[in-house]
Amino acid sequence: MMKTVFSGMRPTGKLHLGHLVGALNNWVELQTTHRCIYSIVDWHALMGEYESPEHILENVRDMAVDWLACGIDPEKSIVFVQSDVPEHLELNMFLSCLTPLGWLERNPTYKEQLREITTRDLQTYAFLGYPVLQAADILLYKAHAVPIGEDQLPHLELTREISRRFNSMYKKEVFHDCKAILTPTPRLLGTDGRKMSKSYQNAINLSDTPEAIQARAKSMFTDPKRIKFTDPGHPDECNVYSYYKVFAPGLTKDVGDWCTGARKGCTECKAILADQLIEFLRPIRERRAKILKDQTYISDVLKQGAVRAREIAVETMKEVRKTVLG
Ligand code: SF4
Repeated sequence: MMKTVFSGMRPTGKLHLGHLVGALNNWVELQTTHRCIYSIVDWHALMGEYESPEHILENVRDMAVDWLACGIDPEKSIVFVQSDVPEHLELNMFLSCLTPLGWLERNPTYKEQLREITTRDLQTYAFLGYPVLQAADILLYKAHAVPIGEDQLPHLELTREISRRFNSMYKKEVFHDCKAILTPTPRLLGTDGRKMSKSYQNAINLSDTPEAIQARAKSMFTDPKRIKFTDPGHPDECNVYSYYKVFAPGLTKDVGDWCTGARKGCTECKAILADQLIEFLRPIRERRAKILKDQTYISDVLKQGAVRAREIAVETMKEVRKTVLG
């Protein structure tokens, strides 16, 4: 029996190259070695976007299309929308009862997000408790592992603490510890050199047209020390070069040579990168277009995914209710 992996993404906007290299490529790989359960976690999106939730439904469908186009295979993996499986909320309730407030208040991501996100009011009961819902997401399927980045390790540790507290309080090993699958992923900054984010408008989206990719690549920040064409560049200090390393590794030597030898200008270098990115994203763009022609297919995938997820979730909840309430 293959071990279970759970992962989710919040449908808060279009998926970009950072999502592809930071998560989706890894999710696709895991399908060959694990039973994968991938959830579009719309309730997590609602926690942050409750004041203007009108785009969540559209984002859910868009995310499903991107996942399928990137190679998430609904024949191999369970692909579903969190709110189609109400057991997530029920387990969240059981776990909320036994999670000490101090554990949530100490959560470093919570504090950081309150500090950094100033455009929305996140001082809410739900937002404080989002790691409990995350724990419920993972524990509902008794996942053995979750593919995450290092920055998410404190959340996983909280899930482990909650599950251990549950087992110890009710004297039954209902849940086992869940491990992290840490995969080294290339660090990809936005086109302006800041963290890649939809709110900074600095990302190349998986659904972008070739024209949009060209425009975004053209606006990329380059080596700040290379001012004139004749100035030799420093590829390792240039964000454009870091994109070459990830998306066109076969060209890095040439780019290094023409940059340090001042043989091509940055405008040309970015135009070549744009062509490479357009080519790189072509298969995803073509699969996207095909999937979008069949809206019933998208609905069917999500419906069937929810049925399969619920089969597991219902069993876990029977066990949880029996353990807690008798
Ligand atoms: S030539 Fe290319 S790698 Fe060199 S600084 Fe310009 S954009 Fe960057």
